Amino acid sequence: MDTIFEYTRNEIEDMLSSGGYKKFSATQLFGWIYKKKTFDFLLMTNLSKDLREFLNSAFSMEFPVIDKKEISKDSTVKYLYSLKDNSKVEAVLMHHSYGNSICVSSQVGCNMGCAFCASGLKKKTRNLRAAEMVSMILQTEREENEKITHVVIMGTGEPLDNLDEVLKFINIINDPYGLEIGIRHITLSTSGIVPAIYKLSEKNIPINLAISLHAPTDELRTRIMPINKAYPLRDLIKAASDYFDVTGRRITFEYLLLKGINDSLLMADKLADIIRGLNAYVNLIPYNPVKEFKFEASDEKSVMAFYSRLKERGINVTLRKRMGDDISAACGQLRSTVKS
Ligand code: SAH
Ligand code: SF4
Repeated sequence: MDTIFEYTRNEIEDMLSSGGYKKFSATQLFGWIYKKKTFDFLLMTNLSKDLREFLNSAFSMEFPVIDKKEISKDSTVKYLYSLKDNSKVEAVLMHHSYGNSICVSSQVGCNMGCAFCASGLKKKTRNLRAAEMVSMILQTEREENEKITHVVIMGTGEPLDNLDEVLKFINIINDPYGLEIGIRHITLSTSGIVPAIYKLSEKNIPINLAISLHAPTDELRTRIMPINKAYPLRDLIKAASDYFDVTGRRITFEYLLLKGINDSLLMADKLADIIRGLNAYVNLIPYNPVKEFKFEASDEKSVMAFYSRLKERGINVTLRKRMGDDISAACGQLRSTVKS
């Protein structure tokens, strides 16, 4: 049976009107599911009995099963979710002063092969469906009895390698009759698949785009992020600039600080050179060591020196706060701890 979480409100409207039902019932249905959290079609009393029975016979509501849950000292919660085909994916819930954010995965494993990333240790087995991403939000809200206000698509996988389902997911969670997660509260992080960044620009949806840069020269970036061979820095920076021109949203460049690799002042200067003049800011990310790799986090002195140099060069720069690192829950450090 098909899960109803896969469909946008527009798609449900079309489905209902072609079945002879009122289009408006799609909005009511969204309200029941996403606002009132009623997960039984038969209880949706303002829909006709006939429609309730039709929905009940044609659609299911599938939720992921919580395999494991860990809570960090700073109240960050990491879930290992098990999907219908037994694939395991993680999601992380973070509590902030401005609301609750969830970091969701977009694929089972990742094929991009970044040299520092735990997610890439497992090759991609498949893309996640929009419904699976949506249901992880619903399940987490249900489990914690909390409202999720911000979504970051920064878990395992490369979201721009699964663009259609990710766009559908964004449409569903942003719907004003549904979860109503503001478009500006949604962030997508990419390793830099240039043609897909242009495709995203064409859609002109003002989500926050974060680009994992991590190195200011092609030589180094190709070494730690093989995707750079296909889409080198010049093309990537141009795509980022175009994204801003079209959507008016400032790009975030993520820059992971790796000791002795990309954290010198020379690198800071090169970074300032390549992004100068762009309406963007740099988010410096502390590295969470992964035991299979030799990389280490930069020490505090180098981090501060790097940060100050970018500031001096007129770059907008922020330092990402560590969250959940005692339970390896930092975004980008997600990996299944079970064999699958
Ligand atoms: N595939 C996308 C989104 C998932 S990774 C991307 O690469 O952007 C999310 C972020 O976490 C990326 O910036 C990634 O480079 C970073 N990351 C990966 N491994 C990490 C680690 N061990 N510590 C800190 N950040 C890491
Ligand atoms: Fe994939 Fe992103 Fe990890 Fe690279 S950093 S391997 S693109 S999840």
